[in-house]
Amino acid sequence: MTATAPRYLTRFRCLADTCEDTCCSGLVVPVGKACWQRLRDAVAGSPDAARVEAFVQPDEGSGPGAEDAVIAKGADGHCAFLDARKLCSLHGAHGERALPDVCATFPRAATRWGERLEVVGSLACPEVARLCLLAEDSLERVPVSEDVAVRPGSARRVGGDAEDAWTRHAEAVRATAVTVLQQPGAVSFASRMFAMGQLALRLDGFYFRGTEAFSGDARAGAEATLQDVLRSFAAPETLAAIQESFSALVLPGGPWAGICASVVRARQAPVRGERFNALVSAVLASYGGGEAPDEAWRLFAERRERLAPGLNARVEQYFRHHAVNHWLRHPFTDLPRLLDYVFLLTLRSAVLRWTLFGHPTVVALCEGGVEGTAEAQARLDAAAVECFQLIAKHVEVSPELHTLARGLAGSGGSETLGRMLVLLKGM
Ligand code: SF4
Repeated sequence: MTATAPRYLTRFRCLADTCEDTCCSGLVVPVGKACWQRLRDAVAGSPDAARVEAFVQPDEGSGPGAEDAVIAKGADGHCAFLDARKLCSLHGAHGERALPDVCATFPRAATRWGERLEVVGSLACPEVARLCLLAEDSLERVPVSEDVAVRPGSARRVGGDAEDAWTRHAEAVRATAVTVLQQPGAVSFASRMFAMGQLALRLDGFYFRGTEAFSGDARAGAEATLQDVLRSFAAPETLAAIQESFSALVLPGGPWAGICASVVRARQAPVRGERFNALVSAVLASYGGGEAPDEAWRLFAERRERLAPGLNARVEQYFRHHAVNHWLRHPFTDLPRLLDYVFLLTLRSAVLRWTLFGHPTVVALCEGGVEGTAEAQARLDAAAVECFQLIAKHVEVSPELHTLARGLAGSGGSETLGRMLVLLKGM
């Protein structure tokens, strides 16, 4: 037991041909140079050799003479190697060993933090989304065998350079963010996100990629300041005070609804995924097409009001679990500043909230008069799994979302925190 994973991964079993989706539909499947060669070796001499030559093609995005490849898609957006039962024909004929890393490991992502291996799931898989969002204890981290990562050798690395303060303190910073999200008490998800924004702003002046604030004689002082800030944000009274100041803010909702609609609408054309496009069409229609942001906001606010008494706690759980899983799966050190990371997560959460409250099941629940019955909760759960999974798969990975987030965030610092408030409006 040398690795850790959230408890939900110990419960995960691939649903194979009974899955409502497939791992690869609508996605680009990258194949690294070594994986490409391994695949060619595995199919050599078999009828699949010609198919691999035809369907695994150089990745033009990597420039002339590319050594990496991508797998071709059919007109329906499915991988060219998927068979009629939606199962991988290469896996069936040649075993898991033949598969590229991304296919063999999905929906797991493994990261080595120093010597420690962490394995986390992707909500782009519907079964992971179900297990992660719905069980209260799903995110407890438990010891597991490295085999849970499937190919632990392909894990990415964070840290390991003792001189790099940015990655050296990353685990402590992340632990505080997760504490803010998971601290017991009646603190709204929006207030928790605002607290993370404030934490990021407090660290922004001296803790960022490439910082020199921890060098030489300044190191002890910078580390003491960092620890003080982290300690204060982990304290329940800090969160309570932030909740109070956040609740007093009054902001217009139209801009929030407009941003969410434009993010999702922008993904409709590029994504060849029937389930995603059907969901987006239904959600936009529920907001009157999404062209009139103030009206969309009015509809959203009305639904939120109606759902709140019986099912708000359940909705809050989905968002907390999504955010914690995000912190575990995506190291914040991938971005240059913590505030950029928190802003992007807030944008993702906003889009998810807008989508969930436009889902036909949620609209029907609100129109029918919501009660917190087991049946109502089960219907809400199913809608949430569909929304979180499809948005994770088709929106959260899009480079356009990162570009948009950079534009919306402004010039950084307190301006970015102010703009983040607009995104927190609907939460
Ligand atoms: S999306 Fe998840 S459950 Fe569905 S086939 Fe892929 S790994 Fe299995």
